[in-house]
Amino acid sequence: MQESLTHWDATMMATYGIPALVLVNGKNATVWDVDGNSYIDFLAGIAVNSLGHAHPELVQAVSEQVATLGHTSNFVAHPQVLKLAKRLVDLTHPSARVFFCNSGAEANEAAIKISRRTGRTHIVSLEGSFHGRTTGALSVTGQSAKSGPFLPLLPDVTFIVPNDVAALRETVTTETAALWLEPILGEGGVIPLTNAYLQAARQVCNETGALLVVDEVQTGIARTGTMFAYEQAGILPDILLLAKGLGGGLPIGACIGFGPAATLLTAGQHGTTFGGNPISCAAANAVLDVVAKESLQERALKIEQVIRNFLVSCDGVQEIRGAGAMLGIVLTADFGPNVVSAARDLGLITNSPLPNVLRIVPPLTITDSELNQGLEILKTAILQAWKV
Ligand code: PLP
Repeated sequence: MQESLTHWDATMMATYGIPALVLVNGKNATVWDVDGNSYIDFLAGIAVNSLGHAHPELVQAVSEQVATLGHTSNFVAHPQVLKLAKRLVDLTHPSARVFFCNSGAEANEAAIKISRRTGRTHIVSLEGSFHGRTTGALSVTGQSAKSGPFLPLLPDVTFIVPNDVAALRETVTTETAALWLEPILGEGGVIPLTNAYLQAARQVCNETGALLVVDEVQTGIARTGTMFAYEQAGILPDILLLAKGLGGGLPIGACIGFGPAATLLTAGQHGTTFGGNPISCAAANAVLDVVAKESLQERALKIEQVIRNFLVSCDGVQEIRGAGAMLGIVLTADFGPNVVSAARDLGLITNSPLPNVLRIVPPLTITDSELNQGLEILKTAILQAWKV
């Protein structure tokens, strides 16, 4: 492993630090490193590999597409993008119109530009939120450690505490272009917004004319037990943002506008070379096929039940929060990073977005056996780190 990593430091910018693992292959929720060691994958490429690794239908769809028509341009259409856009409209609302891009940050950038087309500039977002690393997306990200080195960013963004309805009512006004929310703050430590808060957000936006932007880059595509997490609050956003699990490992993002927000961007106002490319769209179509065929929303709920039952009375665990296959294990102290490294040594990949929180976002296709194996390792790692 060390030998494989010697070039990292000498060739890569230091943005990610030096990784602990070099992975070479995977099968569903199990991956293998360059030395042949296996790991259960509870991170799924940070909620990306919704179908696990090397899912046969995803492999076939992508292989066939690259062998048929790998890239076009947005001057022409192709069947995969037409099919995917239609499916996203059918899955959301008839008024939906889709803009395809390549990542979560780019989906946020598109939404920022749409919000500017209201004629207003003020944006309200949440403290602790994460929307991406490009300068626009970073401007609406409520984590000063990430945005601080790059100031000044976009002006006129106000951050408020999550789940505080009074703050929402006070801050979102008729001058506000958009309110930016993640139904569960992922990078912020797996913090769910309550249904009451999401409903209040919808109401405040109706009253003020601000756009409700729901960033489901991490929560979307069956992960929380419904296709989109917003459905659980019985609301419809003005703009829905997707990426990560949509492509199951291929890079794709989507910014979906509803009602008036669907038509605020007009010809020539936005674009990207690779957005809606045939290969990523073929992957997303395969993901949506498998989600439907294998009822992965229900599987996500089953995964939640198994994890909660297994860890509820584990020493060192204070609380389990989140929904479906997006759970935060809140620890009794800041020993999350120690659990992550102990787990890795024992054969499990997970991560710790906050020092006292572990994030569990496995593939939705994880088998019972992989899930139980991973949970046994996780418990051992938690107990090891907790006792130190
Ligand atoms: N929005 C949310 C909610 C995310 O969790 C992330 C990434 O973690 C992003 C946006 C940025 O996505 P990307 O890394 O694909 O740019």
